[in-house]
This record gives sequence, C-alpha cells and structure tokens, in this order.
Amino acid sequence: MINSLPTPTSIIRPPSVREIQVLIVGAGPTGLVLALWLTHQGIRIRIIDKAAEPGTTSRAIVVQARTLEFYRQIGIADEVVERGLQLAAANLWVRGKKAGRVAFGEMGRGLSPFPYALMFPQDGHERLLIECLIIGGSRSSAGSSWSALRMRATE
Ligand SMILES: Cc1cc2nc3c(=O)[nH]c(=O)nc-3n(C[C@H](O)[C@H](O)[C@H](O)COP(=O)(O)OP(=O)(O)OC[C@H]3O[C@@H](n4cnc5c(N)ncnc54)[C@H](O)[C@@H]3O)c2cc1C
Repeated sequence: MINSLPTPTSIIRPPSVREIQVLIVGAGPTGLVLALWLTHQGIRIRIIDKAAEPGTTSRAIVVQARTLEFYRQIGIADEVVERGLQLAAANLWVRGKKAGRVAFGEMGRGLSPFPYALMFPQDGHERLLIECLIIGGSRSSAGSSWSALRMRATE
C-alpha cells in the first residue's frame, strides 16, 4: 500500500534510454495503468505526455469493481478504495425538490471483493497512479511529445 508521497531517496533510479523496453505515449489513465502493469512484470518503461502536468479536471468519476479487481493484482486496490467514496445511494432532485432516491448498497455482494461503485474523480485517480509509478521506479516525462521524441531518435 502507498502511504505517502515518495521522498527522493525512495525513488529507484529510472531506466536510461538504452534500458527502456517499452515507450508509452500518453499518460492518461490507459497509459498509466499499462505502465503499472508492465512495471509489475519487471519491464522497464518510459511514459511520455505532451501535457506539462497531469489533468486537473475530474472527468470520469466512478471506478467499477472489475477495475479494482485488476488493481488488486498489482497491489494498489486498497489505496484507491481508501481515497475514494463508496457510493451507497443517489438522491435525485427536480427543481429544488427531492424526487427520489436510488439505493445501490453492496450491489455486487457475493460477486466481487469490491461489491460497490467507488467514487474517485479522475484527476485524483491519475495522481495516485503517478505516485505508484514513481515509487515503483518508473519515470514519466511530462512535456514530451511523440514527435519530439521521434526527432531525438533520428538525430
Ligand atoms: C468532460 C469529460 C467528462 C468525462 N466524464 C466521464 C465519466 O463520467 N465517466 C467515464 O467513464 N468517463 C468520462 N470521461 C472519459 C474519460 O475521461 C476517458 O475515457 C479517459 O480519460 C480515457 O483515458 P485515456 O488514457 O485513454 O485517454 P486520455 O485521458 O485522453 O489521455 C491521453 C493522454 O495522451 C496524451 N497525448 C495525446 N497525444 C499525444 C502525443 N502525440 N504525444 C504525447 N502525448 C500525447 C494526452 O495529453 C493525454 O494526457 C469524460 C471525459 C471528458 C472530456
């Protein structure tokens, strides 16, 4: 479980360009989770993104049980659950008046160790994945674009 942001001494040396086995272009949720999986398999990766910093808007807000089941396999499910909010119910409002309530409860009881929908906004989720990658010894290069890297490769 990841309890705190890494200190410089806890960061393992990132791979040099010659050591990189897989280059991942795009540090959104897809690229970050792929990077974590490959790192978990002992594959040395570099992940680059044209954006200078991770997203700051929520976008996707719910993490489904199957995602958490996959996360458990790479040891990050507990931290995600801890940072998220288990969705017990939704209240529906129409013109200022409560119109209904949908109870979710443990809708996946008996089917999954994570029998609920978990609210965890995408920006916080991406930051957590990046923390896990840093602690795991990989390195993300913000501000790099695929075309810039290709230019360097042919120099
Ligand atoms: C307003 C909004 C609301 C949303 N709400 C929901 C929701 O409620 N529920 C839900 O499930 N989903 C929602 N989504 C969708 C969700 O955000 C996406 O499914 C998710 O971000 C996809 O992740 P990704 O990693 O595949 O792509 P992205 O998040 O798009 O990440 C791609 C990354 O690649 C980088 N990149 C692109 N081209 C290059 C290049 N040439 N060189 C280097 N880097 C590059 C980009 O900068 C970006 O960081 C929403 C999206 C938006 C925009």
